[in-house]
Order: sequence, then C-alpha cells, then structure tokens
Amino acid sequence: MSVRIEETLRSELLDRRSKLKGPAGDCCPPAEVTRLLEQVDAALARMDGGTYGLCEVCHDPVETDRLLANPMETFCLDHLPPAAARALEADMALAAQVQRGLLPPRDFVAPGWEVAYHYEPLGAVSGDYCDLIPAPDGGFYFILGDVSGKGIAASMLMSQLHAIFRTLAPLDLPLEGMVEQAGRLFCQVTLPMHYATLVCGRVRPDGSAALCNAGHPPVLARLGGAVTALEATGLPLGVFCEESAAVRTLKLAPGDALAVYTDGLSEAADPAGQEFGRAPVESIIAATAGLPADAVLGAVLAAWRAHRAGAPRTDDLAVLVIRRLS
Ligand SMILES: [Zn+2]
Repeated sequence: MSVRIEETLRSELLDRRSKLKGPAGDCCPPAEVTRLLEQVDAALARMDGGTYGLCEVCHDPVETDRLLANPMETFCLDHLPPAAARALEADMALAAQVQRGLLPPRDFVAPGWEVAYHYEPLGAVSGDYCDLIPAPDGGFYFILGDVSGKGIAASMLMSQLHAIFRTLAPLDLPLEGMVEQAGRLFCQVTLPMHYATLVCGRVRPDGSAALCNAGHPPVLARLGGAVTALEATGLPLGVFCEESAAVRTLKLAPGDALAVYTDGLSEAADPAGQEFGRAPVESIIAATAGLPADAVLGAVLAAWRAHRAGAPRTDDLAVLVIRRLS
C-alpha cells in the first residue's frame, strides 16, 4: 500500500474515532460505540505495528478499494467470513439488477430503423455502457462505451455516464456539444486514473447519421456493399476536462448498417491466446446485408463464441447493431 493511501486511511480512522467520542457517538447505544471504538483502535494499532491491511487468514493485502470503503476491513475477498460473503453476494445481485434496469428496452423502435444489442458483464456488473435515447425528431441517440477497469468501480462510473447522457439528450444540443459537455461532467466525477472510451451517435428519420468516436474501437459502417471502419475522432472522455469532440456525418440507405462494440469482442482470445480481432466482424457485417439487425448481431456473437472455443472471457462485452429499414 502506498504511503499516501495509508495516510488517507489513518486520517479516516482518526476522524471516525473523534466522531465516536463526540456528540455523534451519543446517538448510538453505548455498547455499540465501545465496539466500534475498539475496531478503530485495533486498526490504528495494526498501522503502528506494520500489519495493517493484511488479511487475517492468508496475510495477503486486502483489496485497496475495499479498505477505502471500510478502513477496518480485516479479510481479503477470498477469506470473508460466511455471513459477510453472503451479504456481499446479495449486494452484488442487487447491483446487477439495478444495472440491468439502466439498459434500453430490448424492443426499442424508431421509425425507419431497427436496432439489436447484446450486453454481457464479465462478473455481476459491467463497466460497459449501452444506451438508446429517442430524439425529438423521431430519430435516436445511440451510445456505446467502455469505462476503464472492470467490476464495481467501473459499473458505478458507467451509471454516471448513463445519467449524464440521459440528462443531456433532451437538450437537443449539436452532437459535438453534447459529447464535450458529457466529457466535462464525467471528468468532474471520476478519479484522475479513470476514463471512458465511447461512441455517441445520432440517427435521423431521413437516414442521416452523425457520429463522435471518443477513443473507442472503430464503428463498422456497411454502406452499399462495402464495410468501412470509422476510427476515433477524439480522445476518450475523462482524460482532459476540456476536450473538443469532432463529428463525422454519413447517410445510410435502406439495408445499410452500423455496428459498434467494446473490446470484450475484438480482444477475446482463443485457447492459444490469439485475439478475435476486427477482421471477422467486418466480414460478417459485409456478408449479412439483407438480414435483420438481430440476425447480424447473432452471427457476430456466434463467431465470437466459436473463436473462443471455450477459453474464459476476460472482459465485459457490449455490441450494438443499427440498420436502416426504409
Ligand atoms: Zn485472505
């Protein structure tokens, strides 16, 4: 553990100690105050003795994010006592349910367009963000992103992104303004080491589309017979607080499609460690002209599973396919 984190935790413990001894402690039953004070003092004593932050069972370091949440923690995740493990499991199940509630409806429809998406966390919760938001003109916004890291912290930042874009969408800003504003807001709520890559796009009933790609893997656009990879037009969100966004516009004819994915798709490895890559996705998008969006998505996912051949996944996955109907 870094000296800086240990100092943060020490001042957190001292703060709790003075709260328990002050007026706030008077509100609790005395036995409870005594028990909590003993825990705080024991943690401070471990700090002085050089054993702070080590698991009582295996003596390996307790996860830093868990110590930041509870500086009195004395077990690593692998050695939680049964009651604490059950409580954590229940918390995670609830968090997963909350996150599923943030996903757009499966039967999302917009005039002239069809959409299909797949969202699959690696663990209980995901750091990927997938959203579809109706726009006032009958078109819609689509956002697919990937917060750095995985697990609980990433999923909390994903929910921040969800709130930010859901708040900005009704303002009907130009797309670059929306993404720049989202970047500023996201920068305010993240730690310096966190960022998010994402694609934010808007399609209109006449088939026109605008895209911002903030440091994300390319959008694959099937226009006519050819598939084009539309690379990033800007930096990921959260790297700098004042980032400018660039917009690319295109026009989709009936049958044309866009596919966006997170690196849980392209970087999935087979048992020999070979990554799936982008090329197979491009081939599938090219070969599935004429098929509905959910069939295109199904073909991509089937190829991804076949490539992995049972090798375990290592990342969250989100894939979005948008197809112009008429
Ligand atoms: Zn342990």
